[in-house]
Amino acid sequence: MSDPASRDERPAEPGPGTPALVEARGLSKSFPLRRGLFGRGTEVVHAVSDVTLSVRRGETLGVVGESGCGKSTLGRLLIRLIEPTAGEVVFDGRRLGDLSAREMRALRREMQIVFQDPYGSLEARMRVGDIVAEGIEIHRIARGAEKRERVERLLEEVGLRPEHADRYPHEFSGGQRQRVGIARALAVGPRFLVLDEPVSALDVSVQAQVVNLLADLQARHGLTYFFVSHDLRVVAHLSHRIAVLYLGRVVEIAPRDALLAGPLHPYARALLAAVPEASVDPRPAAPSVQGDPPSPVAPPPGCAFHPRCPFAEARCRTERPELVAGAGDRAVACHVFPVPR
Ligand code: SF4
Repeated sequence: MSDPASRDERPAEPGPGTPALVEARGLSKSFPLRRGLFGRGTEVVHAVSDVTLSVRRGETLGVVGESGCGKSTLGRLLIRLIEPTAGEVVFDGRRLGDLSAREMRALRREMQIVFQDPYGSLEARMRVGDIVAEGIEIHRIARGAEKRERVERLLEEVGLRPEHADRYPHEFSGGQRQRVGIARALAVGPRFLVLDEPVSALDVSVQAQVVNLLADLQARHGLTYFFVSHDLRVVAHLSHRIAVLYLGRVVEIAPRDALLAGPLHPYARALLAAVPEASVDPRPAAPSVQGDPPSPVAPPPGCAFHPRCPFAEARCRTERPELVAGAGDRAVACHVFPVPR
């Protein structure tokens, strides 16, 4: 059986020298937006714009930003649940766009997703054992008693009991359902998991248990995570590095401790200021961000953050800042607060 437990590609501690498992290269995704009864007047939503980043083997890359900033879309692009409008994804050195449908189906075992909604993402009429076994059947990993044994082991691994396989999702709490979702993702022995707001639908008291479970599974199996959340506190618990997204673009990416100790980009500073207990930044808190994000249908020219930025200068309104890497394994897209080199 291709068991996640049989894999061990744990790096000592993922860092700048750790090879990438997944790379986004100039990745963009736009969606047509149809308005009116007959869908006339087509506009385009720029959900993800020119994102280049890598997820290193064995690391958790946390991705934070306001609702609608494109972080979930980016996660789906990385595992090719949706096709990019431009750019490419490279998984373990292979360009996904070059793969045939058959090769892509085989590669699906390597990359799985855990969804936000543990209530809506599990088929209510299926027993939990069948839900977890679906991927095992699709990929012909095991049959009969071996399949059942594998399902029961997975349930135990996520903190459930083997007999839970015979129950239906409505018999479980939200936290238990999310454990079923995690077991389903692990069933095919992936190396890469997109965790799309995996705890935001759960009670605060349960969130920590699920985050701890994800940390244990990562340590045990050398998993690589792309962890999407609007909640910086949650992301900070699990992440080695954190990327901050604003209107579909990465505005800062840095090791977790560096970001918490002193984010550079004004939007990252404002995000952190909203959760003061997460910050060890000795500087005065940045002014909180006012107003709603601009529409991704018509992003502002220049720096997309300039209408809300207390530090905006004249050029911020016309020149888009590039994401520029500097010292300390970090990169920032800002004219005024670049990374020291
Ligand atoms: Fe603010 Fe200008 Fe930096 Fe954008 S580029 S975040 S507007 S200071």
